[in-house]
This record gives sequence, structure tokens and C-alpha cells, in this order.
Amino acid sequence: MLPSAVTEDLRRVVGREAVIDAANDLRIFERDGSIEGAVPDAVVLASTTQQVADVIKIAARNKIPIVPRGAGTGLSGGAVTIKGGIALQVTRMRRILEIDTVAQTALVEPGVVNKELSVVAAQHGLFYAPDPSSQNACTIGGNAAENSGGPHCLYYGVTTNHVLGMEVVLADGSVHWVNGDTPDRIGLDLCGVLVGSEGTLCAITKIKVKLLRIPPSVATLLAAFPSIETASQAVSAVIGNAIVPAALEMMDSVTVGAVEAHYHAGYPTDAGAVLLVEVDGIEESTRELMAAIGKILSSNQGYGLREAQTPGERELLWAGRKGAIGALGRIKPNYYLHDGVVPRSRLPQVLSAVGEIGEHYKLPVANVFHAGDGNLHPNILFDMRDKQVMPQVESAGEEMLRAVVELGGTLSGEHGIGLEKNAFMPWIYGPDDLDAMHRVKDALDPDAMLNPGKVFPDPTSERVVHLAGRTGLAVEAKWW
Ligand SMILES: Cc1cc2nc3c(=O)[nH]c(=O)nc-3n(C[C@H](O)[C@H](O)[C@H](O)COP(=O)(O)OP(=O)(O)OC[C@H]3O[C@@H](n4cnc5c(N)ncnc54)[C@H](O)[C@@H]3O)c2cc1C
Repeated sequence: MLPSAVTEDLRRVVGREAVIDAANDLRIFERDGSIEGAVPDAVVLASTTQQVADVIKIAARNKIPIVPRGAGTGLSGGAVTIKGGIALQVTRMRRILEIDTVAQTALVEPGVVNKELSVVAAQHGLFYAPDPSSQNACTIGGNAAENSGGPHCLYYGVTTNHVLGMEVVLADGSVHWVNGDTPDRIGLDLCGVLVGSEGTLCAITKIKVKLLRIPPSVATLLAAFPSIETASQAVSAVIGNAIVPAALEMMDSVTVGAVEAHYHAGYPTDAGAVLLVEVDGIEESTRELMAAIGKILSSNQGYGLREAQTPGERELLWAGRKGAIGALGRIKPNYYLHDGVVPRSRLPQVLSAVGEIGEHYKLPVANVFHAGDGNLHPNILFDMRDKQVMPQVESAGEEMLRAVVELGGTLSGEHGIGLEKNAFMPWIYGPDDLDAMHRVKDALDPDAMLNPGKVFPDPTSERVVHLAGRTGLAVEAKWW
């Protein structure tokens, strides 16, 4: 609980009803989409940049941790107030302030829901390319903070490639614009540093993004494969033939079973794995590309190739893919999802390691992922009410990430490091690399009040101490 004088100060800034501190109401903000939770001391619902700045000043004055929060769909514990303090919710800042059809840009507040921007931009023949599967709920602010990806980021690039500039509030409450209207980032690229900083360096209060013209033609193909290995070979073969589709997604048989039972989209339930491939552009080019892709898939054991014949059919195929994680609830009520990335050619090895780990722990695992990027998403399925199973789930997740790193990969493709993977950062960064990152953090947030306990290994956390003990890693006394 915050000291009552602090709560009163916050209420003066945002209004009485915009500060939540009743125990039952706070429970809603305990979690994001990941498995760990911690109840904040208070939630503040800010409506303007000035309010965000004033709230951060109050927190700074009183040395209270502050955690920016969007829709809470994050999958790495980023929005969880693990050190207590204030959850600074920005979803009331949800105006699309400007769509410039000539410059093809949009200026938005951080609480704008990702899909909403594309729906509004479509009235001008434009769209916003990064499309996380959670795009019906997640916010552009959350996307910028996580540097989110999505099925169409294989071709179009992840969020950082689409952010031109941002208005941000730093840990002392000062308001700044980083970068601006043009793609060229002159001087130090502060926008590049702050996109993907997971709420640890600033609160984002406005974002200027690029919009793209809606392509005149789109073709979407579903193909079945006998196994996840053959589907992975086909992915490498497509890209090895110098074709980069707009999207190249894979689902294994466990996922297909759950998705088909829910969406009835015609996914083949007898397949070991399926690929969903999309190309876009002018009609002639999509025809040509789809024909070439079809040949490559067939010569790599692909069968049952089916191209969507109508926009409705295409939408249904995508609804199945984007709703896949929700559909897994048919198998078990909870999932633990990591998003390691490997060089694409290593997908068969890493997926077979993932399968073995699942079998070892007797936990069902469902894979649904951005195969073209080598960005796997093993979903470990379990029931959180069974307390015995939790340590197994966490160990299985850790071993999967270990396999990713041993195969030359890295810890996250798009979900961020947050709370769940900060203990593993020393697997991929040496002490000097981590120190360089710490110095940026120190410069922008010297009292470590913005989203503490995230991204950087936290020596006060049980998981870091446990890992350090096992691997002989030195754990610094300071936490960030
Ligand atoms: C079913 C499902 C599918 C998903 N699919 C994808 C996918 O395809 N690709 C992908 O990349 N992610 C995916 N995600 C993860 C998640 O949706 C993204 O990380 C998303 O960007 C989080 O947005 P949010 O608004 O929910 O942020 P939150 O979860 O509220 O916060 C995420 C992080 O951003 C910080 N943050 C939020 N807003 C701000 C702000 N205004 N200023 C500073 N920091 C801020 C928080 O402190 C936290 O660290 C999926 C999640 C689910 C549940």
C-alpha cells in the first residue's frame, strides 16, 4: 500500500476515480499474459502526457517503482509490478491524433489498439504493418516498448522499422521527443534505444509510425506436411530460393487439432504440421510467387495445398492462426510460452529438442510460430491449479531456451526479456555487454525506479541466485 499522502497527490493529478487502490480491484492488474504475478500498490489511469509526467515526478520524489502498462497482453512478465509500486496504465490515452495520407504516417497515443489503427488507416487505403497475433487487444505503446513482431513482420520488419519518432517521459518526469517525421535518424538514435526498452527507460506517450499502402493483391496458401521436420525443410527451401513471403507461419498437429475444433477453418487434422504462406503485391507478381512457392512446398513433401479463394476464406485461415493460443485452452487452461529464435536452418533440431523436453517432463507442448523468422513459440500446456506442476513447467521452459542458445539462437524474437528471461541474459551477453546496457539504464534512470527487476539479471531474485549457483556465474550486488 502507498503512503496515503502519496495516494492523495496522485488523485490530485489524475482525479479520484483514476487511482485504484482497493485490494480486490488491484488483483485485475496482478498479471500480464505470462505466468508470474504481483499485485501493484496502486494503479493510476493517466489520460494525458502531463498526467504521466506528474505521476512519474511523484513516484520519483517518493522513490516508488513505476511500471508503464498497456493492455497487459505481454508474454514475458514486463507489466508485472514485481517490486510493488505503481502500475501506470495508459490505455485511456487512445486517440489517433493524425493520419497524414501524403506522408503516409500516423501520430497515435500509446493506448491505441494495434488493429484499430489499421482499421482506421484502411479508410485511406493504408495499413500499419506490424501485426502481433494479439493485435485485437495489444496497444501500439506496448508494441513499441516490446519491439513487437507478428506474422507479417517477416517481410515488412518488426515495430522498430515502423516507428519514426516518439514522445517519451523519462524517470525524472521530463518530456522529450526522440526522432521525428523522417526515416533518417540524425544524431544519436535515441528512438532506436527506447523502442524495445520494455518500460525500463521511459514511458511512451505518443508514437509517430509509418503507414503502408494496402497491396492490390494478396494470396494465402495452406499446406500440410507429414512432420514438423519436413515443414521446417520446406521453410528453408522457400527462403533458400530467394523468396521472402509476406508471412510464413507454422502450426504443429497439437495446435491444428485445437484450432480446427474451434474455428472449423479446414486445417488438415491428419497433418504432422501445416504452413500458412502469404504473398502480396501486384496481381502478376503474387500469381508468379505463389506458383513458385507451391512447387517448392510440393517437392518438400507438402500436400493438400489449398489457396484461399475468397477474402472470407483468407480471414478464416488467419483467424485460426491468430487465435491459436486461445484455442489451446481446449487442451489445458494455462500455457507457458517462450519465443526463442534460431537460425532458420536449425528449426528441425530445436523443435526436436523441444519435443524431447516436453516428453521428459510429461507436459504437452504445442508449437505455433513465425517459422520464416526462425522464431519458435513452444507452448507448454498445464493447469496452474496443480501446484506440483509449476516447477516442472519452469524447468522445461528453461531447458528449451537453453537448447535455443546452444543452437546459436537467442532468448526472444518479439516478446521481450521482462521478468521471465532476465536470469538467462548472461547466457548470451558477457559481463562487459551487460555493463554497457547498465550504463545506459543508469544514465536515464539513476534510481532504477522505472520497471525495476526486468530485463537485467536481478541478483535479489530467487531464479538468478539459483542459476548463478548452478553455472558459477558471478551475480552483481546491484539490481536494476
Ligand atoms: C495470444 C497472444 C498472442 C501474441 N502474439 C504476439 C505476436 O505475434 N508478436 C508479438 O510481438 N507479441 C505477441 N504477443 C505479446 C504481446 O501482445 C506484445 O508483447 C504486445 O506488444 C504487448 O502490448 P500490451 O499493450 O499488452 O503491453 P503490456 O503487456 O501492458 O506491456 C508490455 C511491456 O511494455 C511496457 N509498456 C507498455 N506500455 C508502455 C508505454 N506506453 N511506455 C513504456 N512502456 C510501456 C510494459 O512496462 C511492459 O514491459 C502475444 C500475446 C498474446 C496473449
